[in-house]
Parts: sequence; C-alpha cells; structure tokens
Amino acid sequence: MIPIERVELDGVMKRRLEAKSALLRARRAGTAEARQSWRSARTIRRGLAEKLTGMAPGLSRCMYCGDGEGTDIDHFRPIASDPFGTFLWTNHLLACSHCNSNMKRDKYPCDASGSCLLVDPCRDDPHEHMELNFATGIYFPLTAKGASTIEVFGLGRPVLVVGRAKAFVRCKAMLSHWLVLTGAGDDSGAEEVYESLRLQPFADVLYAMVRRRDAPGAPVAFGREAVAALRAIRW
Ligand SMILES: [Zn+2]
Repeated sequence: MIPIERVELDGVMKRRLEAKSALLRARRAGTAEARQSWRSARTIRRGLAEKLTGMAPGLSRCMYCGDGEGTDIDHFRPIASDPFGTFLWTNHLLACSHCNSNMKRDKYPCDASGSCLLVDPCRDDPHEHMELNFATGIYFPLTAKGASTIEVFGLGRPVLVVGRAKAFVRCKAMLSHWLVLTGAGDDSGAEEVYESLRLQPFADVLYAMVRRRDAPGAPVAFGREAVAALRAIRW
C-alpha cells in the first residue's frame, strides 16, 4: 500500500453522485436498496472506475495489495455500515477482487472512540502504520491501525510476502542499472528502466525504499548505487 492522491471529479459526475446520494437519503434506503442502486448505476460506475484507474499504482494495480489488477470499486466504509455513503467519491477505492471479495468484504473495524482502524491510502501514509522488512517481504505493524489493516486486507498472505521480497531484489538491480545508464549518458535507456521500475507491481516496495533511503543502514541493505539512484526519485 502506498499513499494515493485522490483527483477531483468533473461537475457532471459530482452532480450525478449527489443526486444518487440525495435519493438514497430521501428514501431512507437500507443496505439492500443501496446495493441495488449501485448495481444499476452502470454509467456512474464506469466513470468512477476510469478515475480510480488513473489514480492507482503501477498498471491499474489494487490500492490495497499493490499486486492484483484493480477490477473492483471498493466502498471503504461498506454499504452495509453506511448505505448513504454508497455514492460518496471519497468512499471509493480501486481493489482487486481478492482484496475486495475475499479479504475486506464488509469489515470496517473501529476503536472504542469510533475511529476507523483501517488505513485509507487517500488519507493516510500507510508506512506510518506499518513497516516493511525488505528481505522477507513481511509487514510489521507500527500502530493498532497498521495491525488491523494487515489483518483485514490479508497483507501477510504468502503470494504477497514472496512477491515483495522478489520485488526488492528487482528494485535494487534496476536502480543500479539505471544509475549506470544515466552515468553513461544513455538517456533513453535510463528512461526505459525508470518507467519499468515505476510501473511494476508492488509499488509499495519502491516507495518504502525511497522513504528509507537516508536511514543509516540503507547503503548496506540496498547497495550504494541503489541509494544514489533512490535519491534522484521524486515521489
Ligand atoms: Zn488487492
């Protein structure tokens, strides 16, 4: 998971969403009616999916696991908990079907004061709540929110853990290679490597490396060339 910047919707889409929300409120709609309204709003869903795809990491990757293709619009606060939030733009995130249908589903854990215990990548920096062990690919929680997020989204599932560890190896190699090409004045070659680096799945691994590039152990963990390359990345 990496921080995601939510884009503004155009006026037409905003008005469509507001009209749908107003209707649900006027009808005091429950979960079933809100779900039916969402399912039947094909044009709206298509427009939202397009916006979310543009915001997603890499090549339309899931905003939670960063690995699977983002195919579903997830209601961060589930329709079952808040039917009136069905058409709320700030409640929509792009997820893969596994994260959406097998892991998160209708879960929305809160603490005793009612604050949500899930990281919303459009509001929080996930890496303030969990820390990646690069060599193993395992996330460790830094906060209660981080612990709950790892559990609810299944961020410790084996395919993700192994995938992150392998992505770390790839990132180190590609960063070093990028530095060599840049030093040799091969701008197009360097650009190609950089683009591949930014579009690969598990964007969270590169993001975590950028965040920790100035940490004391970084030259040993990442390699000096990779650290030099990481310093040139603006995120
Ligand atoms: Zn996912």
